[in-house]
Amino acid sequence: MIHAPAPFARALAGVALPDWLDCKVEIRRRRKTPGLIIEPNLVTIAAPPAATPQELAEALAGQLRMVLTAASVPGPSTPGWYDHFDLIVIHTSGGKDSQTMLRRALALLPASVRDRIVVLHLVLDKDPQAGEEPRIEWQQVPELAAEQAARSGIGLAAGDGWAVWNLHRAKKKLTGRSQWAGQMHYARRDFDGDLLDDFATRCKRDGSPRGWATIWTRYCTSDWKTAVGRAFTEYICAQIRAELGLTRPVRVLQIMGFRAEESDDRRDRAPFSFSFKASASASRHVWEWLPIHDMTKPEVWADIAASGVPYHPAYDEGLSRLSCRVCIQGSRRDLALVARMAPDTVADYVQVETDLNDPFQHRRPLASIQPAPGPAGFDVHWLSCPTCAVRVLANTRESQRYCPAHASTGPWHLPALSGPAAPCAQGTLFDLIGPVA
Ligand code: SF4
Repeated sequence: MIHAPAPFARALAGVALPDWLDCKVEIRRRRKTPGLIIEPNLVTIAAPPAATPQELAEALAGQLRMVLTAASVPGPSTPGWYDHFDLIVIHTSGGKDSQTMLRRALALLPASVRDRIVVLHLVLDKDPQAGEEPRIEWQQVPELAAEQAARSGIGLAAGDGWAVWNLHRAKKKLTGRSQWAGQMHYARRDFDGDLLDDFATRCKRDGSPRGWATIWTRYCTSDWKTAVGRAFTEYICAQIRAELGLTRPVRVLQIMGFRAEESDDRRDRAPFSFSFKASASASRHVWEWLPIHDMTKPEVWADIAASGVPYHPAYDEGLSRLSCRVCIQGSRRDLALVARMAPDTVADYVQVETDLNDPFQHRRPLASIQPAPGPAGFDVHWLSCPTCAVRVLANTRESQRYCPAHASTGPWHLPALSGPAAPCAQGTLFDLIGPVA
């Protein structure tokens, strides 16, 4: 039974609605295109101001087809469920959760789907292809993400991982699956500068400074990750459509390393779900799989210790997350560590804070953060494990480093790392924006 204002109820009565859609319908005449937001017992339809009830009903039929599609797909507990997908996108930040997620996902997916898999890392620094040193991410994070993927059998794509994204930027079409399938890729927002330059120069429509992104307006995530990840995914989808001659939407499985214990929001996510926000009714349907949703932080570190796959030495300094060095959601403790480890980067941020006359975090200026005790500065280099000779990423203060499998200690022994840390959207690509046709 649909309860909606007349005449919308009459128009919607002509649409083939799923039986289980027994709820109240709210019509909001605000958006340019019809949308559909489903909450328990409430469907919110945002409609263009000029739409007639019949136009609205027809447009919503496409959205409702997605509802039916979402309900029809088997989940990870069903044998062969992965065969449903044309494209599998594994998002990695290079952090601890990402490497465990990558390992678990690839262990659970058969080799037969490798030719549908891409691993993607999004870069927030200046273009590394121009030899720029990072100041947003920690040193060697993209390289570490590639090493972690390689250790799971996914090699770096051509052009040091940038070939596909460079073709996209050149507005050229992909000509074959061999350009992307079973490979690790980088992508980056097409912007002359890095994320801090964006913070410093972004303006509102009236020309006044936009100011820092906040927890409520995370444009750092939506523009540098969500939009870029969506564009990369759609670029691959176009090649798949051409190759397979698809007349239906491309079925995409996106895999991320979110864990339930990170936050209430992540606890509320289902380990497998259909993403209305990431899907477009005609071009792609996107499902989200969180293979380590049930894992605790100690379990993640135990997995890394057993694997021998390198993690970033920034964790050894006590950082709870491998996000942007200076994150708008960073805890006071993490920011104090960053002030010690990367004083030049923090000085750049404080300068922007001064120029914008806007505190970096609500009621917490970055200038007020005192560096944590300990050695100032931080850099990394690659070494070989003395026991098994695999590559490991080490602090430059170390001349020898064992891989996690042969290290006598590691961040898994740091008591300060227990307990939840502020969640980051490092791997979140489609969360903050609505569906795009
Ligand atoms: S790590 Fe923090 S600053 Fe960086 S994109 Fe994510 S939320 Fe924004």
